[in-house]
Amino acid sequence: MAIVNGNYANLKESYLFADIANKVAAYAAANPDKKIIRMGIGDVTMPLARCVVDALVKASIDQGSADTFHGYGPEQGYKFFQDAVAGYYADFGVELDAKEIFCSDGAKSDCGNLTDLFCNADTILIPDPVYPVYLDTNIMCGRNIKYMEGNPENGFLPMPPKDIKADVIYLCSPNNPTGAVYSKEQLEAWVAYALENDSVILFDAAYEAFVSDPAVPRSIYLIPGAKKCAIELCSLSKLGSFTGTRCGYTIVPLELVRPDEQGNMMSLNKMWLRRQTTKYNGTSYIIQRGAEAIFSEEGLKQCRKNLAYYQENAKIMMAGLDKVGIKYFGGVHSPYIWLQCPNGMGSWEFFDMLLEKFGIVGTPGAGFGKCGEGYFRLTAFGSRENTIEAMERIVAGFGK
Ligand SMILES: *Cc1c(COP(=O)(O)O)cnc(C)c1O
Repeated sequence: MAIVNGNYANLKESYLFADIANKVAAYAAANPDKKIIRMGIGDVTMPLARCVVDALVKASIDQGSADTFHGYGPEQGYKFFQDAVAGYYADFGVELDAKEIFCSDGAKSDCGNLTDLFCNADTILIPDPVYPVYLDTNIMCGRNIKYMEGNPENGFLPMPPKDIKADVIYLCSPNNPTGAVYSKEQLEAWVAYALENDSVILFDAAYEAFVSDPAVPRSIYLIPGAKKCAIELCSLSKLGSFTGTRCGYTIVPLELVRPDEQGNMMSLNKMWLRRQTTKYNGTSYIIQRGAEAIFSEEGLKQCRKNLAYYQENAKIMMAGLDKVGIKYFGGVHSPYIWLQCPNGMGSWEFFDMLLEKFGIVGTPGAGFGKCGEGYFRLTAFGSRENTIEAMERIVAGFGK
């Protein structure tokens, strides 16, 4: 008899997006003439840059000729991809060895796959609220999970706990869903904690491209000592509109070593290479060529234009919220605005009010952890026209 992994029974059913869809469908049926504005989506809306499309087409044509055909590629990614990522990091002051860069099909998969490197006795420290993937992937392997609370007092940026010795720590900055971003000093405190406790930080930098202040670190490796204690996950989903095209990368420093259960020192870079060569056959050649083009001068120019469009939307949203006196976090280095539901409303209560009164859809904060209750996420990924209209509706009718 096959015995299955009972940890799956410990996962909370996620009704969040299904519940939202049902409520929106009911509202649409009852109000067929009302235009609904969706500000709940966590997906980009801008298309791929022209030069990226050209690179994808050219690489597809390569696959049709014997002399330019590519079969299985290196599991870690092609050299041209690694060089492109290394060049991107060098521009903001981080030196990476090509051996430290692993191409992936996106940050979400690697986020889950990284649990392979750690032992079941490890204590895992996860922020609340946060991207639910960290929690669920660790529940699936039955890990001992501790939470660190995000709240208005710490600006949704929890700092190292004094009473917990965590072995593996998840940090997401700029944060999904709160939009909060750690300062250099705050990340220094995290690196100091990790070095003191021999922990490993898993740093999710999926939104690094939204950081608009050079004083705010876009990579944990801008903090001295981080290569001895941190793995960084990143994605082309948000920078390059690759949510449906799929490509990301994980950086595992050569200096990162930790003991196994017998006390043998192990290189996490070697372990990850072994894991990837065993369980992954590499990201498609075509997709890696498209990703390479994102990092070209022309590609970055176009992608940054898209990000600036979302950032302008965020400004419009923040100005509207300011006008009606709703308190919020994020929005500056992030496409997410995390607002405090006014008048002590719960997340879902606010959701219903926003939908019924204004025809606007957002995401209840309670879907991102218990500390998200009483908060609400709006995203800046919509069109300019809809963003302006949504804020006009709120400003005109709020409190009336
Ligand atoms: C969007 C996002 C990612 C990227 O996921 P992909 O699988 O690369 O699309 C990673 N982490 C967070 C927190 C995200 O919001």
